[in-house]
Amino acid sequence: MGLRLFNTFSAKVEDFKPIGDRVGIYTCGLTVQGPPHLGHIRAAVSRDILIRWLLHSGYKVIALENFTDIDDKIIEKQKELNTDWRIIAQENIDKYMKACDELNIIRANIYPKASQYIEEIIELVSKLIEKGFAYEKGGDVYFKVRQFPDYGKLSKKNIDDLVSGARCASTEHKEDPLDFALWKAAKSGEPYWDSLWGKGRPGWHIECSAMSMHHLGETFDIHTGGEDLIFPHHENEIAQSECATGKKFARYWLHNGWVTLGGEKMAKSTGHYFLIEDVLKDYRPNTIRLYLLKTQYRHQIEFSRERLNEAKAAYLRIQTYIHGFENLPETTEPLKLKEFTEAMDDDLNTPKALGIVFDLIKQGYEKPSLDIATSIKYYLKILGFVEEVPEQPFADVMEILHEVKAKIKDEKSGLLDNAAQELWNELENMKSSDEFFPNIVNVLLGIRNRLRKEKEYGLADFIRERLAQKGIQIFDKGDVSTFRVEAK
Ligand SMILES: [Zn+2]
Repeated sequence: MGLRLFNTFSAKVEDFKPIGDRVGIYTCGLTVQGPPHLGHIRAAVSRDILIRWLLHSGYKVIALENFTDIDDKIIEKQKELNTDWRIIAQENIDKYMKACDELNIIRANIYPKASQYIEEIIELVSKLIEKGFAYEKGGDVYFKVRQFPDYGKLSKKNIDDLVSGARCASTEHKEDPLDFALWKAAKSGEPYWDSLWGKGRPGWHIECSAMSMHHLGETFDIHTGGEDLIFPHHENEIAQSECATGKKFARYWLHNGWVTLGGEKMAKSTGHYFLIEDVLKDYRPNTIRLYLLKTQYRHQIEFSRERLNEAKAAYLRIQTYIHGFENLPETTEPLKLKEFTEAMDDDLNTPKALGIVFDLIKQGYEKPSLDIATSIKYYLKILGFVEEVPEQPFADVMEILHEVKAKIKDEKSGLLDNAAQELWNELENMKSSDEFFPNIVNVLLGIRNRLRKEKEYGLADFIRERLAQKGIQIFDKGDVSTFRVEAK
């Protein structure tokens, strides 16, 4: 069936058909006046999953993610810290890249900075003036929103409704309150570049049009960003780009949901956020990735330590299973591939795809299987999880098994010893590929059940307690015992 993506522009899930043999993707990245918070990382993980799935599906990709390094907020920060804006921008870019690398976020091919594309921006603004879509006034240049009949199509806003909300700041020279700035005249003490309209700097929206079209062409495949950028940023990008070229700008618009805190958007401007560097102090990258991917990218996620802790336990359960096998081979034919592919092709439905992984894990713990372990390893790689050393070492349960065996020999009757010996032999006869953590725990549970039947509760409880110390909880239902690995 192939990949289908929800396009904000049509408000429908559409079949994905790229223009050429390389999928061009542009992502609106950070305005780097401060370090990245979890909301920024969610946008990055959403882009990462899109690219990973495109690559896995056989597409070639060229991806750009910009940094807005010159903007009102950075100029304010410059005044506040009495530091050069370039230093502030670079420090925050470095922090973002470090966090992205820790989280195994696939790198874009190019990370353009607005300040590096002033020439392209000036050229685009000039073109808009020439074509009658923009005008200069007092050193500022504004875009005439009413000249673009399709304005509001992406955000589904009606121009008449926008009029009542539009205001002009006293410092602006707009002819119409709806118009937006393409170029801003420099105020004293602000960074500036020379232009045909005097000293100034670009407005925010124009940089993304200039940088995306410079690298990807006038029409390109996918534009992504947070849902808060739909209006006005992306609406303005469409207006100015399509007026300049007379062509369709981006073909698919993908927007990720916010991370919320108490129902409100996590944002630097409101001081309402968790910095990613702080979240990374408490949680491993795989836990954060699992927590984010448990929600489909378009929906909002409420920040919750409880949900993060659940993700931690869930990842530990997966990791413990697959690391129970030594030298786990690679597979090219994983179990449930059709279901997994359908889930990912359905607008990158990661919660559904993860559900398939969790179903496999459940089966694997009930009936250990090498095929399940190799399949899970295959899917974890597609979803961008990093291979890591498990927190629950195989050695822990082997140690308990030896202790139990010694205790039975020392303390108990021949009958118990024989019963235990049978299970012990079973374990020793296992092929090396089957010798993994759940099998050993199951042997321990078998010994424990035998002990309970013989009313040797002291020894049975010893097994339960020792496993609990290693984070393994036992659940009894009649004669059947199961176990679950808990996060420590
Ligand atoms: Zn942008």
